[in-house]
Amino acid sequence: MLTIEGLSVKRGGVQALREVTLHVDEGEIVSLVGANGAGKSTLLYAIAGSLPISSGRIEYQGQALNGMSPERTARLGIGLTPEGRQIFGTLSVLDNLLLGAYVDYAGHWRDLLGNIKRIANDDSVRERLATVYDLFPILEERQSQDGGNLSGGEQQMLAIGRALMSSPRLLLVDELSMGLAPNLARQLLGLLGRMRDLGLTILLVEQDARAALKVAERGYVLETGRIVAEGTASELLNSDRIQKAYLG
Ligand code: ATP
Repeated sequence: MLTIEGLSVKRGGVQALREVTLHVDEGEIVSLVGANGAGKSTLLYAIAGSLPISSGRIEYQGQALNGMSPERTARLGIGLTPEGRQIFGTLSVLDNLLLGAYVDYAGHWRDLLGNIKRIANDDSVRERLATVYDLFPILEERQSQDGGNLSGGEQQMLAIGRALMSSPRLLLVDELSMGLAPNLARQLLGLLGRMRDLGLTILLVEQDARAALKVAERGYVLETGRIVAEGTASELLNSDRIQKAYLG
């Protein structure tokens, strides 16, 4: 589904990614782990089209993504749950979710918020909303509340739900567990398996290497912009070197 070869990305004066090569097969959950500043978010932003790449190739379902805008990658089926959730705090939970379906409408109306009722009446949007509420029932209970009034865990659910509203085939998830109590983080990571069963392929980026590898089939370790290890999740979890460096 996703093939990345020799990808290098600069941010400011920093070489954030160096010759990164990895792949994600359809139906897999793949975790990319690494310390603070290793370049994990940079990789997701480069795939989604939010950052220019210096060299290398990103291919999604056989199509080159290099230089494609975020709107086009979203239309092709790439969804992103960004680090820090980035929800719209003064909009209701429902409106946050409906705006996630923007890829279907951005070409028709400039004022998405002004047309939110029309979006809400679309059968396909209602179907997606039902799927999101099935995964995260608390979001349905809180659908009229402002997004900014939700707890951290609920905001993370909202960020995932909003990404699902664009009907992605490949979901890029940045630091799902950040700022969450370990139990809640584990619960949310466990839901990734259910999302995969719904037909999604998932690339997960996490500092919590153990938690991320436990829910994945395969993983990669990123260190100062380079892939330094890769393997099945159990190979990485059982590797002495990885245990010492990342699993404590
Ligand atoms: P974190 O979990 O802390 O976000 P990360 O592994 O996701 O870590 P990135 O955010 O991708 O790492 O950062 C990779 C490198 O790029 C780091 O050296 C970082 O300082 C640098 N960097 C990140 N954002 C910017 C920016 N806006 N301008 C310049 N350099 C940046």
